[in-house]
Amino acid sequence: MSGWGCLSNIGFGPLLDMGVQVATEYEMNEQIHESGNHIDVLIVGAGISGIGAAYHMQDQCPDKSYLILEKMDGFGGTWKTHNYPGIRSDSDLYTFGYRFKPWTSAPIASGEEILKYMGEVIEENRIDRNIRYDQMITHASWSSKDNLWTIEAVNSDGERQTYTANFLWMCQGYYNHDEGYTPEWEGMSDFRGQIIHPQKWPEDADLKDKKILVIGSGATAATLVPAIAEECAHVTLLQRSPTYFWPAQNANELADTLREIEIDEELIHAIVRKKALFDQQNMIQRCNEEPEVVKAELLALAQEFLGPDFDIEKHFSPKYRPWQQRLAFIPDGDLFQGIASGAASVVTDEIDRFTEQGVMLKSGKELEADIIITATGFNLSVLGDIPFAIDGKPVNWADTITYRGMMFTDVPNLVWVFGYFRASWTLRVDLLGDFVCRLLKHMDKKGMSSVAVTLRPEDSDMEIQPWIDTDDFNPGYLQRGMNRMPRKGTKAIWQHTQDYWRESEDIPSIDLDAEEFVYRGYKAEAETDQVAAAE
Ligand SMILES: Cc1cc2nc3c(=O)[nH]c(=O)nc-3n(C[C@H](O)[C@H](O)[C@H](O)COP(=O)(O)OP(=O)(O)OC[C@H]3O[C@@H](n4cnc5c(N)ncnc54)[C@H](O)[C@@H]3O)c2cc1C
Repeated sequence: MSGWGCLSNIGFGPLLDMGVQVATEYEMNEQIHESGNHIDVLIVGAGISGIGAAYHMQDQCPDKSYLILEKMDGFGGTWKTHNYPGIRSDSDLYTFGYRFKPWTSAPIASGEEILKYMGEVIEENRIDRNIRYDQMITHASWSSKDNLWTIEAVNSDGERQTYTANFLWMCQGYYNHDEGYTPEWEGMSDFRGQIIHPQKWPEDADLKDKKILVIGSGATAATLVPAIAEECAHVTLLQRSPTYFWPAQNANELADTLREIEIDEELIHAIVRKKALFDQQNMIQRCNEEPEVVKAELLALAQEFLGPDFDIEKHFSPKYRPWQQRLAFIPDGDLFQGIASGAASVVTDEIDRFTEQGVMLKSGKELEADIIITATGFNLSVLGDIPFAIDGKPVNWADTITYRGMMFTDVPNLVWVFGYFRASWTLRVDLLGDFVCRLLKHMDKKGMSSVAVTLRPEDSDMEIQPWIDTDDFNPGYLQRGMNRMPRKGTKAIWQHTQDYWRESEDIPSIDLDAEEFVYRGYKAEAETDQVAAAE
């Protein structure tokens, strides 16, 4: 079915009220672009999740209208916001790329390459017609009477727009793009040099011949240090505690061989992706089953780069087991190479306070710097920090329980794409793309306008817990903001299991008529109501 016919199945009324005529799919999207403010599916955010969601809408639900609202002036999300030197993925692009668009270069990609890849997806699928930039969503409210979301947005000139949508596909990520997290250290204002957070990299940052101190131990710090080591006088990585780094060649032998024998790129993508997933699963399993062996292997690799005299135990031997926190991949061991060359050094200590020249450590040593880069993480943003209301009542996400980390109890017609910690984020974009499209079609088939998840009688005495188990994974931004996150139950369907391999089987086979799905707003009733109202 094309055009408005199927659209009517999930809330046709407001479009009719706006005088929209029966149109082809193309005209429909043009019309949305030009004037209409009602859409079937509103996607929030034009990052890798939002663009993926748009592709799946076009591919699997071509008879529905959709629109992406993005607050920035361009697409890319994370890859647009972050411009610090060396910005790159730490996952391989055979799995961080979409399943439908082959990745054709080295597995670890620069931010620029990722943006180019996303740009191609947009252009090849004409997704740009359905994106409105400079639209920051400021409010979303659900009406059970109309089975509709009303979304308010504002542009940078302060002009307001109101949209209505049947379904919200939340692809707004998990952190605040405007401001990174910087701890408050004593004496910060005394420091006479420049302090930079990598999330807001100044275009005119001048590192040449400067002494740089990078505070942090995660992927950002590990990326920055080798990227600036050549340019500056010296760069010191100051970490409170060590992280595991996984040095490996930035190449995929299997992909290179397949390319050499002229296998086509789509097939290479599918095969290499499967192989990468197989290897990752194997690694995660080993980290769980034999953490000490994996730890010894990782430390031995570090020692190989850094030499026998380097104190690996102090600087690169974390207290936690591998993969308990994100394992940072370093292509070609570049961080270790920078340290081995003497251009960079690592200090494992705690900051006591900032001084005029740099920082004073708890050990009593002072580190001098011209520029301090605080690679200290993010501020959590729960559903874009958008105030949500249901029938006029504000939603407190901490009062909800998540259904598989994507839906929330008693919140109708809304799915959030929250990716994986131990696997590429985008794997979940594709999985949830299939799920949302299947759900929308199922609602059409049932003639229902709204769907929400709710706890079943058998869940009544289930223990309710915080969103993540901090023993399993504990990034700072989640720990700091856990009280604002939805909660989870002890049964797998009420958790974000973070297990792609399990979900890749479970999600496609979800029974959409299972007891936890509650459908409302039978179309025949809605249409009868409208006729009655018109009379
Ligand atoms: C530096 C860095 C490197 C990373 N590397 C990897 C990696 O290698 N592998 C991996 O799996 N993960 C990685 N991640 C995690 C990464 O954030 C995700 O993989 C992914 O890019 C997130 O995509 P997203 O589209 O869901 O969210 P985002 O990229 O955060 O995009 C969300 C978009 O929504 C918009 N938005 C938010 N709120 C609103 C609003 N109220 N109104 C309108 N628009 C709004 C934002 O402006 C933004 O454009 C990395 C993260 C960072 C910061």
